[in-house]
Amino acid sequence: MIETDALIVGAGPVGLFQVFQLGLLEISAHVVDSLPHPGGQCMELYPDKPIYDIPGTPRTTGRALVTSLLEQIKPFKPSFHLGQEVSTLAQQADGRFLVETSRGTAFITKTIFIAAGVGAFQPRRLKIDGLDVFEHRQLFHHAGDPADFAGKQVLVVGGDAPAIEWAMRVAGTARSVTLLHRRDVLQAPPDVLARFKSLCDAKALSFQVGQVTGIQANGEKLQAARITDVNGETAPLPLDTLFVLQGLSPKLGPVAHWGLDMERKQLQVDTEKFSTSTPGIFAVGDINTYSGKRKLILSGFHEATLAAFGASEIVYPGQKTLLQYTTTSPKLHKLLGVDSPLSDD
Ligand code: FAD
Repeated sequence: MIETDALIVGAGPVGLFQVFQLGLLEISAHVVDSLPHPGGQCMELYPDKPIYDIPGTPRTTGRALVTSLLEQIKPFKPSFHLGQEVSTLAQQADGRFLVETSRGTAFITKTIFIAAGVGAFQPRRLKIDGLDVFEHRQLFHHAGDPADFAGKQVLVVGGDAPAIEWAMRVAGTARSVTLLHRRDVLQAPPDVLARFKSLCDAKALSFQVGQVTGIQANGEKLQAARITDVNGETAPLPLDTLFVLQGLSPKLGPVAHWGLDMERKQLQVDTEKFSTSTPGIFAVGDINTYSGKRKLILSGFHEATLAAFGASEIVYPGQKTLLQYTTTSPKLHKLLGVDSPLSDD
């Protein structure tokens, strides 16, 4: 059981900046995200696209912004718990919250910051009856270590760069590798497509157009995928391992079941502290709604700032929280681990 003053649900840009604002108020935070890396939509949906509306930064990218935010929060040493979804949340008799994740990590926290954006990113799955029982044994939704699949017959389903790159990597060790995509057009940078083509030409792997429409299993063992081609003809493809790498899609998921007031799948908040209907639980960034809300990163940064001040009243009851400038406050310089200027003026 991890005891903490603050738990942040979501490591998107707003969840990351929440760490910073809490840190300035001497509140340390744990951060949970269902993705295996921080960055939320910026990393998942547009890592290399330009962003032009971050104040004071004329041009950045999704990836560069996340890198800067991670650098900025370093002094506050947040603990990240990645690759796990916050599933349950319940208030205890002493007012604190018990929070558990899909991997069984449990927290007791005084405050919660829901920075869950458009929801937890989850892999797009194949909707085939009876397939899910093979998950983690023969069915995978994330690339892994190619050595684990040495000598196996591998089917990779997906048509963009992560699926293509994984098919090429695992081809080095597997007995056979087939990449399956529903169309004959693959989406990846030209150099990746060129490498893929040359490996196909060398028969190191093969590419098939079609869709998985069924499976063949013998009790505990998945034996083949039934593949339907563009002409509607179906044939079995024997396999030992099936990778479904069709990208990720966000799902609001458990947030909707935490008993908080919502409006059209978003959490209602006040605009003084960005508190939800339960005191102690704040909601910041794309997940919240209020009059005039604009889903922009800079709005989330503002919300995180006021939410941190709101949390300070709970973490340090009875203490007045003063606004201090990072430019001039020796106390903040100490927290940030930077040299204080000689003069305050
Ligand atoms: P997100 O970035 O969505 O992060 C939320 C995180 O929470 C995710 O990582 C998710 O996995 C995690 N999560 C959710 N539920 C759970 C759970 N139960 N347990 C664990 N983890 C959970 N905004 C701008 O200001 N300027 C732009 O130029 C701009 N360009 C954009 C371009 C595109 C293509 C898109 C799609 C958006 C753009 N946006 C832009 C919007 C911007 O990306 C969002 O406003 C911003 O990402 C919101 O940040 P967030 O931290 O609130 O949520």
